[in-house]
Amino acid sequence: MNYRIALIRGDGIGPEIVNETVKVIDKVGEKFGHTFEYIDVLLGGCATDTVGKSYPDGTAELCKSCHAVLLGAVGGPKWGSNKPAEQRPETALLAIRKDLELYANLRPAALRPALAAACPLKKETAEGGIDLLMVRELTGGIYFGKREKYQTEERGLEATDLMAYSEMEIERIGRKAFEMARLRRKKVSSVDKANVLETSRLWRSVMHRLAKEYPDVDYEDVLVDNCAMQLVRDPGQFDVVVTENMFGDILSDEASMITGSIGLLPSASMGDGAPALYEPIHGSAPDIAGQDRANPIATILSAAMMFRYSFQLPAEADVIEAAVDKALADGWRTADIAKAGERVIGTRQMGQIIQENI
Ligand code: NAD
Repeated sequence: MNYRIALIRGDGIGPEIVNETVKVIDKVGEKFGHTFEYIDVLLGGCATDTVGKSYPDGTAELCKSCHAVLLGAVGGPKWGSNKPAEQRPETALLAIRKDLELYANLRPAALRPALAAACPLKKETAEGGIDLLMVRELTGGIYFGKREKYQTEERGLEATDLMAYSEMEIERIGRKAFEMARLRRKKVSSVDKANVLETSRLWRSVMHRLAKEYPDVDYEDVLVDNCAMQLVRDPGQFDVVVTENMFGDILSDEASMITGSIGLLPSASMGDGAPALYEPIHGSAPDIAGQDRANPIATILSAAMMFRYSFQLPAEADVIEAAVDKALADGWRTADIAKAGERVIGTRQMGQIIQENI
């Protein structure tokens, strides 16, 4: 089959890490008999420099004509907050997520076996293994609710942020979590604060209804404070963790940090119809851009997610993940994951080694 992939190379290290990832994708195509057509999509600071705005007209349509979107990273000091909104790269990121209706953010947090020593948790906890998937609701909740700041007579200035969720919003993210669990170890932990919040009580009742539709998947409720604690005490207990936008924002960063380096972690944002968007969790790292120092692994693992979730090709995804693990097990390190005394290789060489391992 021929797959069309929209490539947003972006700014900073974006083009370098996307280049290496494309080579890995092509190698997988050779091995399994797939072909890929790449559609270059201009977005971010580079788009501002070329056409005067970070989100050029027609971007969403171009992406929608593809099976999936792969994004390196966008942004940098050159297009900072002193620029008008339409020239800022962040505006483009929010716009593309909205236009593609990407309401579910998936962030796997897996401790790569060769890097267990980089895990900040106790040795025996790291040895137990960490392999969880955070499923965060991305377009609702307090980040999108009504905000107000007003003067009161008695208490001075006051501010409110409204957290609202509808059954529909909860149900669709819940379904994503259960479907993902079916592709993994068949367990869903739903995180809420139902002992305090009305939105959480609604969340929980919808999740319980869904759990009955997925009897093959184990289900549990976890209060958000307990979840934060369990993530550092015993992260191995989790498979799929699903939660609302703000809890997910905080917990997904916590889950990322217990697995080590920012340069290793992939992510996916999905909706229902339009293509999903795959990207590393890190930014454009302007401090090391163009120096052949960026770690391409997070982007390469994002491509593995693309094979697994957008193309439904799990064997191909497994091969990419195994190729990354072999490179790490063989001792190859980019600067961000190297310990003192370890030999450091560059972006291109890491890409080349992973490609050879396919
Ligand atoms: P960053 O993730 O770009 O960098 C943080 C630190 O991690 C830097 O020291 C960087 O060198 C290092 N780093 C990041 N990725 C690396 C990799 N693959 N290999 C080796 N080292 C790596 O975060 P930041 O410095 O806060 O942001 C830089 C720019 O990226 C900003 O303009 C920000 O808005 C943007 N950003 C974009 C996205 C995105 O495109 N989705 C996400 C976050 C930040």
